[in-house]
Amino acid sequence: MNKEMLERFFRYVKIDTQSKEDVTDRYPSTAKQLDLSKMLVAELRELDLKDAAMDEFGLVMATLPSNLTPAETAKVPVIGLIAHVDTSPEVSGADVKPIIHKNYKGGDINLPGDPNVIIRQSENPNFSGQIGNDIITSDGTTLLGADNKAGVAEIMSLLANLQKNPEIKHGTLRIAFTPDEEVGGGTEHFDVKKYAADFAYTVDGETLGEIEIETFNASAGTFTIHGINVHPGYAKGKMVNAIPIAAEIVRLMHQEPNPATTEKREGYLHPYVIEGGVEKATIRVLLRDFDIDGIRTKAARLNEIRNQVAAQFPRARIELDVKESYKNIHVKLAEYPKVIEYALEATQRAGIQPGTQIIRGGTDGAKLCFMGLLTPNIFTGGHNFHSKQEWISVQDMEKTVAMLVNLVQVWVEKSL
Ligand SMILES: [Zn+2]
Repeated sequence: MNKEMLERFFRYVKIDTQSKEDVTDRYPSTAKQLDLSKMLVAELRELDLKDAAMDEFGLVMATLPSNLTPAETAKVPVIGLIAHVDTSPEVSGADVKPIIHKNYKGGDINLPGDPNVIIRQSENPNFSGQIGNDIITSDGTTLLGADNKAGVAEIMSLLANLQKNPEIKHGTLRIAFTPDEEVGGGTEHFDVKKYAADFAYTVDGETLGEIEIETFNASAGTFTIHGINVHPGYAKGKMVNAIPIAAEIVRLMHQEPNPATTEKREGYLHPYVIEGGVEKATIRVLLRDFDIDGIRTKAARLNEIRNQVAAQFPRARIELDVKESYKNIHVKLAEYPKVIEYALEATQRAGIQPGTQIIRGGTDGAKLCFMGLLTPNIFTGGHNFHSKQEWISVQDMEKTVAMLVNLVQVWVEKSL
């Protein structure tokens, strides 16, 4: 398995699948992502997932049929496994040259392609558990792409493993490989109905053993300030300039917790775009909080700010619009706790110390949850995503595959 899994991973990281921000006229954002998607369809078919296909949006879906009796199959839930094919727009993913640093003995890892790129032990506490392992990095000129090609390779290795070992019992598995996750579009065209899984796991996390069970509640707010523009030479008593009004709104928001002053479970308000002129200005704001009450309080605070500034500038018109982006997946997970319990048990059975994590962000899983598909995020073993210092060990990838093999079995065992 070791050799085959590595070959897969290397084959995938060598394909440039970088996605691109702010592309609105095509989906996925870059055509090159489909090079990997097409390869995966062919490989899925070779592994006997006969219905493997890529849809018009570049989304790959496939089914591994259950190897249980029909009566048993009806009792075992259909499990979805999801990974994304694209890599981050932040760092080049072209011409990736993966390197294996065999039998890691501790210390910093120097990368041959760029003397300035050093993976320092002091910045990587997880190196302590890697002594004797084989660590994979890029050559330092690109990212590695373990995010999320490690997840893709691990899911594919699970399937290869199940094909070779028919005595391992499993229910129906639904696979999905999505494009454009890194630019926030991974679930845009995800057809939850067609996917037809009872729940799913994204295999897109980091440190071995960590299962992500909470995300922020997220909303997006927009202030629109309508001023009145007249020639500035003849503006006395007439002009209403939207710019100072926008500044006052920003000043008041900045008295609230923001991303630079918060950590752990603390939420924030984050004005991140401001544009406009005298006649009209807009401010876009992100609202984030782990608690549902917290996110409501933040929306209410924005409304107070709006009212306060509107009273200060009665001739301007100030609109505020707040829309929900996604909710903390914890709310949905609480309805079906087995999805986490069994994942933790499978982790333990694979000889990995399990743990749960909160993430100060959203995942594709958070969006899928509220499209009706419960989807927590499980680890891949990767580290330092979106950077030239990205790394993963062969042994952690193997353990992740072992966890997935255990996961399908735990579900069979507990459901029959
Ligand atoms: Zn990812």
